Amino acid sequence: MSDVKYMGLTRDGNSWEPQFVTELDQGSCIGCGRCYKVCPRDVFDLVEREIDEDDDAYDDYDDDVVMVMELKNAGDCIGCSACSTVCPKNCHTHTSASSMA
Ligand code: SF4
Ligand code: SF4
Repeated sequence: MSDVKYMGLTRDGNSWEPQFVTELDQGSCIGCGRCYKVCPRDVFDLVEREIDEDDDAYDDYDDDVVMVMELKNAGDCIGCSACSTVCPKNCHTHTSASSMA
């Protein structure tokens, strides 16, 4: 059972536990920016990532870099899980608030 001190409440008074984002898989990220747009906090930043020359997925790609999302400030996350809801590549990993205590 979850530790009660990490539980929030819904408007109806039901318990709710934050699910904080703890990892982001940049190898799967396509830089679409959906998570950045829905996040109510200042957690994400879009950055350049150098392409691995051995990665066949980029054979037809002219640039040396791709844009990917990174966790700029994971400590500002409130655990709403909106980012995972909109991500088309399942990049985010979440950890429950009580598990991080
Ligand atoms: S769980 Fe919510 S607050 Fe945390 S990074 Fe995702 S969208 Fe932002
Ligand atoms: S929603 Fe997913 S694929 Fe799109 S930028 Fe965010 S982590 Fe990357």
